Amino acid sequence: MKKIIYIDMDNVLVDFKTGIEKLDKNIIDEYDGRLDEVPSIFSLMEPYPNAIDSVHKLSKKYDLYILSTAPWLNPSAWIHKIEWVHKHFGKEKDSLFYKRLIISHNKNLNTGEYLIDDRPNNGAKDFKGEWIHFGSQDFPDWETVTEYLLQKV
Ligand SMILES: [Mg+2]
Repeated sequence: MKKIIYIDMDNVLVDFKTGIEKLDKNIIDEYDGRLDEVPSIFSLMEPYPNAIDSVHKLSKKYDLYILSTAPWLNPSAWIHKIEWVHKHFGKEKDSLFYKRLIISHNKNLNTGEYLIDDRPNNGAKDFKGEWIHFGSQDFPDWETVTEYLLQKV
């Protein structure tokens, strides 16, 4: 049986800043410190560099799920997250993340071997498997993460 990897969205699969860059200056000022609450912000974001390729490689050896948090005060973000997955991975039955998007504020409750996440928040640091700290010195990018995980199989 394949081992399970959970993958965070913001600043792991999704390049958050590419969405910010498309916003008007007055919106950026208005939502300063809570940019994840800007309506439709998620639909503007591009994939993180090499994320799509890497995920396809990993899917051959692992069972993959997206494990993301959506802002409590930005309901449209919940919609835009699934739309983002549809757009970049497809929505068909044989698509990579078909019915594999989990939205949670308690990531520690999910059972599996690995969690790729850039922050300790929302239960990531208490995940029972191994937390792969994306963006850290050990795992600065998708290349290092993919190489590490493929040699673990
Ligand atoms: Mg994140």
